[in-house]
Amino acid sequence: MTPSSHGRGALRRRLSAGCGGALLAGVLIAGQAPAPPSVAARYAEAAESLRTAGLRSETAYSLLARLTAGGPRLTGSTGAGAAVELTRAMMAELGFETWLEPIMVQHWVRGAETAAVVKPGGAGLSSLRITALGNSVPTPEAGIAAPIVEIRSFDELRARGPAVKGKIVFFNVPMDPRPMDTFQGYGAAVPYRSQGASEAARAGAAAVLVRSVTLRTDDFPHAGMVAYDPDLPRIPAAAVSTRGADALSALLAKGGPVEVKLVLGCRELGPTPSANVVGQIRGSEKPDEIVVLGGHLDSWDLGTGAHDDGAGCIQAIEALRLIKELDPKPRRTVRAVMYMNEEFGASGGRDYAAAPRRAGERHIAALESDRGAFLPVGFGLGGTPQQFARLRTWAEPLLAPSGILWVRPGGAGADTGPLAAAGAVLMAFIPDSQKYFDVHHSGLDVLASVHPRELELGAITMAIMAYVAAQEGI
Ligand SMILES: [Zn+2]
Repeated sequence: MTPSSHGRGALRRRLSAGCGGALLAGVLIAGQAPAPPSVAARYAEAAESLRTAGLRSETAYSLLARLTAGGPRLTGSTGAGAAVELTRAMMAELGFETWLEPIMVQHWVRGAETAAVVKPGGAGLSSLRITALGNSVPTPEAGIAAPIVEIRSFDELRARGPAVKGKIVFFNVPMDPRPMDTFQGYGAAVPYRSQGASEAARAGAAAVLVRSVTLRTDDFPHAGMVAYDPDLPRIPAAAVSTRGADALSALLAKGGPVEVKLVLGCRELGPTPSANVVGQIRGSEKPDEIVVLGGHLDSWDLGTGAHDDGAGCIQAIEALRLIKELDPKPRRTVRAVMYMNEEFGASGGRDYAAAPRRAGERHIAALESDRGAFLPVGFGLGGTPQQFARLRTWAEPLLAPSGILWVRPGGAGADTGPLAAAGAVLMAFIPDSQKYFDVHHSGLDVLASVHPRELELGAITMAIMAYVAAQEGI
């Protein structure tokens, strides 16, 4: 037996013997009752054990390697179906109680996709690197060849009005690089991707090309979903790489018409059976009170969704593994959920919250990891101001040794949002965001872009939050 495993065994005995309440008791001063030890003091040793146990191996990375080896997991696809079986098997191997919760999802498939500058000839720019946006309708088989109109805002689109009729609208709106939190720049640019097609259709456009939402200048188009307004014609929509967008813009700046031929062979195959995947360690004292951790299992199909959001799923599994090793009998249930179909409208999260099985359960906290596997920097926590204040008193000191710099109000997540209505305090793991949109929804989102220790540290911080919440409540 190694000294460290002996240490863990001893800690486990103390935790199960009496909840660790006497772990780091205050000093008794003559004539005074000892101050009760704080939550942070009582769990400092447990948090340290979770951290060192996680960093000892590359378990999370090897699990993510298994998941991504199966290829992309576009919702409704064979790859997504295989990932359902695989993640359930992984959790069964680790000794968790597991089950599937069947749901229906949409199944959109990509086909041929090309864009070529057909006018002016000899422009030095023949083909553009593009990708169909998810949910896009196809072009006619022969494609759409039409003049390009560059648009830099929805206001400009409205002002140009009839000028875009019958043309391909090229939304060239770069992500704002100034905010330190890159999600801010992403949030400002993404409406052109999600709503641009319908806004352009309102003005009579034939199709849209949207500048990829990334801060990098490169040749990788970034996918994403287009949400059509049901009252407007559906027109084909594709993303163009940032380098392609810059080249197209430079060509337009020379004056004279620029015409592009766009071919998209994507199509919707209709509702398909799929599932949310669940694994848990049942609570020993309050099994119906649940701390749920998770990410979404579906991904885009250009890479293998290593960061988005294979990482979140694997971190949830690894967090449960670390908790089980520390304390096989937490007081409340700790559950990992791999939500399906986040990318095409987050239906898996809604289906999970609404499933009949939820009726006898009470989710006290719901933690989501869906911001990539980069170095942990913070945690967003929801709940009432009182709940936030209480959580923060232990979360900050217990997470700091694992690299967490701050705990702030927040915590909203695409998949966990519906659980808030049922009383769960939402929690969001926040890694450093500087590199996330370099890979997000693109062919660069593969295992090689994930660092084993950064991935693991995320799992460790999630394990600490989940374990203390399961022991102490919210
Ligand atoms: Zn995601």
